[in-house]
Amino acid sequence: MVTDQTDQSAAGHPSAPETPEPEPREECGVFGVWAPGEEVAKLTYYGLYALQHRGQEAAGISVADGSQVVVFKDLGLVSQVFDEQVLSSLHGHVAVGHCRYSTTGSPTWENAQPTFRTTAAGSGLALGHNGNLVNTAELLERATAAGAVDTRGGATTDSDLICGLLAAAAADTGIEQAALELLPTVRGAFCLVFSDESTLYAARDPHGVRPLVLGRLERGWVVASETAALDIVGASFVREVEPGELIAIDEEGLRSSRFANPEPKGCVFEYVYLARPDTTIAGRSVHATRVDIGRRLAAEHPAEADLVIPVPESGTPAAIGYAQASGIPYGSGLVKNAYVGRTFIQPSQTIRQLGIRLKLNPLREVIRGKRLVVVDDSIVRGNTQRALVRMLREAGAVEVHVRIASPPVRWPCFYGIDFASRAELIANGLDLDGVRRSIGADSLGYVSLEALVAASEQPRTRLCSACFDGKYPIALPDEARIGKHLLEGIEKGVAGSAAPVHANGYGAADALSRP
Ligand code: SF4
Repeated sequence: MVTDQTDQSAAGHPSAPETPEPEPREECGVFGVWAPGEEVAKLTYYGLYALQHRGQEAAGISVADGSQVVVFKDLGLVSQVFDEQVLSSLHGHVAVGHCRYSTTGSPTWENAQPTFRTTAAGSGLALGHNGNLVNTAELLERATAAGAVDTRGGATTDSDLICGLLAAAAADTGIEQAALELLPTVRGAFCLVFSDESTLYAARDPHGVRPLVLGRLERGWVVASETAALDIVGASFVREVEPGELIAIDEEGLRSSRFANPEPKGCVFEYVYLARPDTTIAGRSVHATRVDIGRRLAAEHPAEADLVIPVPESGTPAAIGYAQASGIPYGSGLVKNAYVGRTFIQPSQTIRQLGIRLKLNPLREVIRGKRLVVVDDSIVRGNTQRALVRMLREAGAVEVHVRIASPPVRWPCFYGIDFASRAELIANGLDLDGVRRSIGADSLGYVSLEALVAASEQPRTRLCSACFDGKYPIALPDEARIGKHLLEGIEKGVAGSAAPVHANGYGAADALSRP
């Protein structure tokens, strides 16, 4: 046991409270449906319900009936924003849905999506976006010159900027042509689903960083962030929306256009943590990938132990794989409260001091007297694992060997995931033994990037792994880097903007109050 060696103040990582840190969070889920004769608002509701894990801050649905576009959106979970009465009032044959991720900052109604504009030609445009742009300042400059910044609406997202630019350009050429001209100039990660009165559109950035899939209903089409959302609404999977592709669906059928050459760089972290286990990405089951990662983890970092337990839920498949490959029995040693992080009620100080127990509680009769292998999906700041190891020891574990189903996270993500700033990442400042000592584990092992890539069954060249190796596949202008490291810098960088648009889609005030 090495509890005495726990060093919480090593190398720039001062002692942290035993509160569970926020998990890495997606920046959104998107869903769209074109289906005359179907209840498109309800289909979208269930699609968003399936994608709730990708965004829990706000939800919205737009419907179009051929003559108008109506948007209903609010802060909260999908089930909190919509009820039977609201859904029954949303009529049409085209719908766009969006769920937005939750921050501890000040989420605003204005930033909820779909975001809406009226084109100069008088048609409505509703848009939902999953991703993160990296040339926001440049787009803002263009939007300002074109009078496309909505100064009254109050939205401060990069998504609203795309919507404004699209609406401005559509006045001359129509939305489809405007999108084909605008999208090649937009840099970063984006999956867009948008509609006017009669047509559903979907577009994916040339790198295909975030997933976006196309499905078929008996009487229509569906697009969604993940295949699990297709399953839930009874749609059959057709194919992925290709990187660099724009799809338009109306009564004439489905049209596919290319706005850029594809250079696939899918996010490898989707396999580790972000996507649902019942989703398939690039033909590979996320659950099967996670089990395989666990097997490889066991081969790379064996342990002498009595029991393998997961940190539920995202650590579970990898723990199963670890147990299979190592021959060490698998067991449930931690019970997770599935509703933690899904409330807007802030806990009082007394409750907050319960820390990680709000989220995870040990099964003492399972743990007592055992040498444990604990499998988790990733370590970001290390606070959660430190609290977890201590909790397991207090519950009677005699050894705690931590195994992580991803390589050390050393770099921030600029393409749609909120980890932390680089300075906050524990593996950025500490070597392996430093992290082990900081979290108080008897041993620590991360799966290698090579093993992770092999488990995904994707060619290494088609994946983004920048948060592990710092090799960013989409060039980052200075303001994007500044946005993650020096938030006040972005305000100076966006000259003349009263409501600066942060590179990750949040106003600076929101970003500053992030964990
Ligand atoms: S930096 Fe990491 S989380 Fe972000 S897109 Fe790349 S692999 Fe995914």
